[in-house]
Amino acid sequence: MTELTEEGVSKLEVFKILDLVAAPTFAWRPTPGSASAGVFWCNASARKRLGRIWTAEEQQKIADECPEPVRQATETALAIFHESVVVKRLSSTCSGDPRQLLFNTFSAIPESEVACDLHVGPLCFEMDAQEYVVALAQWRETSASAPQANARAACMLDFSPIHSYLFAADGKLLHANNKAAGMIKMAGKNEENFQLHELLLEDGQEQQEVAREARAAIFDRSERAFRCTLHSLGKDGKASWILYECWLNYDTVAAGGRFASAMLVNTFDVTDQKELERQLASARLQLLKQNEELEASNGQLKANEQIILNEKARLIQQQQKLQHRLKLALKIHQVQPRTYMDTMTIADKIVSALDAISEGETLQLEEVLQLRNAVLEADDLRRPVNLQHQLLHKAGLSTDVGLAMTEMLQGDSNSGAQRLARSRSLAKSTSSKDFSESLSRSQCRHRSSAETCDPTGGNAAGDQVAVVLIPEVERLLMEANGSFSFDAFKLAEASGNRPLSTLGFFFIKGSGLMTAFNICENQLVNFLQQIEAGYPDNPYHNRVHATCVLQVMHLLMQNGLIKLGVLQDVMVLACYLAAICHDFEHPGVNNDFLIKTGNRKALMYNDISPLENHHVSASFMVAADRPQANIFQGMSEEDRGTIRASMIDLILGTDMKKHFGLLSRFQAYSAQTSLQSPELRDRCLSQAPASSSTISAEHKLLIAQVALKCADIGHLSCPLALHQRWTDQLREEFFLQGDQEQQHRLKVSPLMDRSEASGMIKSQVGFFEIVALPLFTGYTQLIPDSKPLLDGVMSNYQHWHAGAKE
Ligand SMILES: [Zn+2]
Repeated sequence: MTELTEEGVSKLEVFKILDLVAAPTFAWRPTPGSASAGVFWCNASARKRLGRIWTAEEQQKIADECPEPVRQATETALAIFHESVVVKRLSSTCSGDPRQLLFNTFSAIPESEVACDLHVGPLCFEMDAQEYVVALAQWRETSASAPQANARAACMLDFSPIHSYLFAADGKLLHANNKAAGMIKMAGKNEENFQLHELLLEDGQEQQEVAREARAAIFDRSERAFRCTLHSLGKDGKASWILYECWLNYDTVAAGGRFASAMLVNTFDVTDQKELERQLASARLQLLKQNEELEASNGQLKANEQIILNEKARLIQQQQKLQHRLKLALKIHQVQPRTYMDTMTIADKIVSALDAISEGETLQLEEVLQLRNAVLEADDLRRPVNLQHQLLHKAGLSTDVGLAMTEMLQGDSNSGAQRLARSRSLAKSTSSKDFSESLSRSQCRHRSSAETCDPTGGNAAGDQVAVVLIPEVERLLMEANGSFSFDAFKLAEASGNRPLSTLGFFFIKGSGLMTAFNICENQLVNFLQQIEAGYPDNPYHNRVHATCVLQVMHLLMQNGLIKLGVLQDVMVLACYLAAICHDFEHPGVNNDFLIKTGNRKALMYNDISPLENHHVSASFMVAADRPQANIFQGMSEEDRGTIRASMIDLILGTDMKKHFGLLSRFQAYSAQTSLQSPELRDRCLSQAPASSSTISAEHKLLIAQVALKCADIGHLSCPLALHQRWTDQLREEFFLQGDQEQQHRLKVSPLMDRSEASGMIKSQVGFFEIVALPLFTGYTQLIPDSKPLLDGVMSNYQHWHAGAKE
């Protein structure tokens, strides 16, 4: 075996590395031939401090001066060689300054500056195929001297607020700092034989178990730390929570000066923390619960929201349906103040029922059967059910008014059944002798009437008539063009009793219809004057009445029908002419009188609207008999045909016996347009004249017929004084008929008896309620521009209604 020398080992890798280590490091070898050992190598750091390796003599000198440390170091080094001790820390076991061990003799290390520990351990290496073991000693410096450091560490530990205990591996208490010692004392125990399990749990049954577990974790499994939190009940009954932290530590004063593993236990009172945790956990639980409840209620809300949305959609749909039906119902059931009559015709009722069915409604069986019976019994579906019965018993009218209204409205002479009923009542009231007498009288009167009104002769103005406009006439014509309170009497006065021809000429010429239909001026003037001359001076049905009707018809056309594109030129001319001719040669008595008295007109027209038939027929005769008055001469065949057909229908439509039939059809049409979408309706009846093609010719005629009916009773909308004048004149005409009935020994018609001074004025309220208001309201609903007319009618109605109450 080669002698270990400094030079010898310096070549080895391990020593080359050790040479670089910062801590002063020394290697011992056993001294050959002795039981001692000596340093044979030191690293660069040690050489820097020592300057060189000491000689055997110098080592001896150190040993002499510091016998105990050197002995210990040497013993340790020898133990390295002979025993398998891993590491030894010598510093704290030295009685003196550990530096004395090796350094004291070397002035290079100032005594006060360095505190060192000497760590000694074995180093095995191979050299020249031989194994060697040397003892390696390494100095580790600390910043202060070891005793000072120890004192500080002990003080720091003792005064620490943390309860710290050091236990040996067998569980025996090695040391307790001040806090911990106080605790042991308070528990009435003794530090001398205090055991780990006594600390871990004061009262628990598992203390041995937990203590065992802690020792196993630290000593056997070398875990970094062992923690447990244990609960105990204090003497005051208050619960407290203690956190135990166990760490591996060393007992530096174990027997033999060797390091022994020990366990440091720190305890912390975590009761507050636990309480906080408990509160947090409780709060969290509560929050979770609240969250769950909120989510549940949120789900419920969402479900409710959906239900509400569904319900809302359903209600909106229902509302739309109801509004639609209300609109429909309003169209059909016209506003009828105070009357309890059901003026719906059977056709209206059928349409209403069908609409209800189309809306998804179910009809009552009774309702269906009533409708069925009404259809089976009725000879005309466009007629209110049991009109006479209603007028007499339900309308709130006095009997004579009810009878008068019945006579006026009941029975279309087109109907065979009605004619039969009429003839029976006629037979009852008039003897056959009376009948033949009245017939012959009537024939005489007709002849004499024809003489006075002969359109072909006796006209002072002749064929060449010029219309001369004086300023007052001009002013009145301008007024007639737009005023809803026009006074035709004034025009009659100002125009030398030619109001009808003057106004007719003004309107027809002014609207450019003469040019459009190739009517020559002379022909028009002649025609108009012939017609005007044919109006007898009846109190009511005279030329001023015709003028009044013409003016209102003009307003209705200008304020609606033309503007909305319902009527075009050919119909406008037909309407003007129909208004002008509509009561031509009116005898001042009604159709019933003509029929009852067997008048030639009744005979001529088989009792079917004799008056109205005559008005049209005779008017056309005027044009036909005299070329100078033939306004139709220059027209195309088509226009002539259209105008003639329209005039016939328009004038026949003024027979009050056709009232309900016309109104019913009109309302059905009006309701029909409201059934369509608003856009479609707008297109039908709005500003765009081109769209008028969407209204059928039949419906255009129907609207014009109702307009002429409105115009015919247009005085109902006049200012009160004017309206009253017309009413008085109508009453007088009725009385005159009553007088004639008396002369004919006929039963005087209701309200026509002069001995009852009020006469037809009694029937005003009933007439407004049953005829006028539904008519004007219905018309205004379709043609809103005619509202001023309805307002005038309402105003006069209120007058009569108030009077009737008094
Ligand atoms: Zn009339």
